[in-house]
Amino acid sequence: MRPAAPRIGVVGAGILGTVLALRLAQGGARVTLLERAPTPGGLAGSMDFDGHRVDRFYHVIVPSDERMIALTEELGLGAELHFTPVGAGFFVDGRMHPFNGVGDFLRFPPLSPLGRARLAWIEGEGRFWYSAPSRAAVKALPEGLHRARYGSRRAGR
Ligand SMILES: Cc1cc2nc3c(=O)[nH]c(=O)nc-3n(C[C@H](O)[C@H](O)[C@H](O)COP(=O)(O)OP(=O)(O)OC[C@H]3O[C@@H](n4cnc5c(N)ncnc54)[C@H](O)[C@@H]3O)c2cc1C
Repeated sequence: MRPAAPRIGVVGAGILGTVLALRLAQGGARVTLLERAPTPGGLAGSMDFDGHRVDRFYHVIVPSDERMIALTEELGLGAELHFTPVGAGFFVDGRMHPFNGVGDFLRFPPLSPLGRARLAWIEGEGRFWYSAPSRAAVKALPEGLHRARYGSRRAGR
C-alpha cells in the first residue's frame, strides 16, 4: 500500500510561499496555501491604481533573471513576458515627474535647487567613496550595511 501523501500548510502567498507550495505539490504533497491578504503576491503583488493594475512596489525582471524567466515559462506564462525599455519617475502632488537622466534631474520640480545640489553632492561623494582605492577595505562591507550608514549620516533617514 502506498503511503498517503503528506498534508502540508504553507503560510504566506508571496513569491516564496507560492513557489514552495508548487514544488511541494509537484513532489506529491497535498498543500494548503494560507494568505491573510485579500490577494496573493505579497510584496510582489499588484494593486488597482485609478483603473490600472500596477505593482504594489516597483519590481523589475531583467533578461539575466534566468530562474524567474524559467519559472514563468514553466507556468505557461512565457509568452506574456515582454522586455521593454522603461523609464523611472516620481509621482508627486498628482503629477508624474520623469527621472531618467541629467536633464530630468536638473529640472526636477519636487526638489528645490538647494535640494538638487545636495542630492548631487551626496551622489558624487558616494561615487568617489566607492571608487577611491584607499577605501578598498570599506568595499568589503556588505553593500546595504555601508550604504545605510553612509546615507543616513549624509542625508538623514
Ligand atoms: C520596493 C521594493 C522593490 C523590490 N524590487 C524587487 C525587484 O525588482 N526584484 C526582486 O527580485 N525583488 C524585489 N523586491 C524584493 C521582493 O519583493 C521580495 O524579496 C519578495 O517579494 C519577498 O517574497 P516573500 O514571499 O518572501 O515575502 P512577501 O512578499 O512579504 O510575502 C509574504 C506573504 O505572507 C503573508 N503573510 C504574512 N504573515 C501571514 C500570516 N500570519 N498568515 C497568512 N499570511 C501571512 C503576507 O500577507 C504576504 O502575502 C523588492 C521589494 C520591495 C519592498
